[in-house]
Amino acid sequence: MVLVSPSHGGNVGAAARAMRVMGLRRLALVAPRFPGIAAHPEALAFASGATEVLAQAAEHASLDEALADVHLAVAVSADTREFSAAPVPPWEACAQVLAELRADAALQVALVFGTERTGLSIAQVQRCGLVTAIPGEADYHSLNLAQAVQVICWELRRALLAAEPAPAAAEPDAGPPATLAQLERFHEHFEQALVAVGFLDPAAPKKLLPRMRRLFARARPRAEEVDLLRGLCKQMLLAAQGRLPGRPPRG
Ligand code: SAH
Repeated sequence: MVLVSPSHGGNVGAAARAMRVMGLRRLALVAPRFPGIAAHPEALAFASGATEVLAQAAEHASLDEALADVHLAVAVSADTREFSAAPVPPWEACAQVLAELRADAALQVALVFGTERTGLSIAQVQRCGLVTAIPGEADYHSLNLAQAVQVICWELRRALLAAEPAPAAAEPDAGPPATLAQLERFHEHFEQALVAVGFLDPAAPKKLLPRMRRLFARARPRAEEVDLLRGLCKQMLLAAQGRLPGRPPRG
């Protein structure tokens, strides 16, 4: 994250906090209103423990200096009307950044934020290959600097989490998943039951069984659930044979 000419220590600290929570640590400050802004008591107070990000923040005299080793810079700008490149929404910019990083892990990417009062200049935006704007209300869309940093850090995090889906959380009392052997016994049982109730014609099975297999494979049933299904198969077989308790045999 690159902050151009930040003027409030509080914003620098709050930006550091937002970054740290979302797993980002490299902060660069370009020509801050006063040197050492990252060590200002207000910055430390707003960083609320994300002090390492502040301590390691780099200070640069110019944006060109800050971007010297960067391969892709993204301008984060509230006001993009006068710039030629149409801004993309943050989720698209962040997805693109992650895709490029995935293709080349050595790529250095910078997200560039403007100064509190006037934002990024046209020349500063033109240093960047991509422009993103957080689409707020047309007549009131300028966020506080640290809040804008928060939104962008969250979008990056979200894109990252979406790319690496967490393993599906098991219900706490769901018990162990069914083994393939348990599933196989169920499929045999189910086939017999389907034949018995006349749903499956063994002479012309068509695609029913493979489709059922796909359905149950997708559901990833638990052992307990397979037991339940086998109870159902048993009942279907009994019903087909007219052996359900309380019912006279058929025929
Ligand atoms: N009046 C200024 C406001 C600057 S706010 C302007 O119109 O640009 C400080 C910085 O926060 C901006 O330069 C930008 O980097 C970021 N910011 C605030 N609101 C934003 C928005 N809706 N979309 C993208 N960035 C925003």
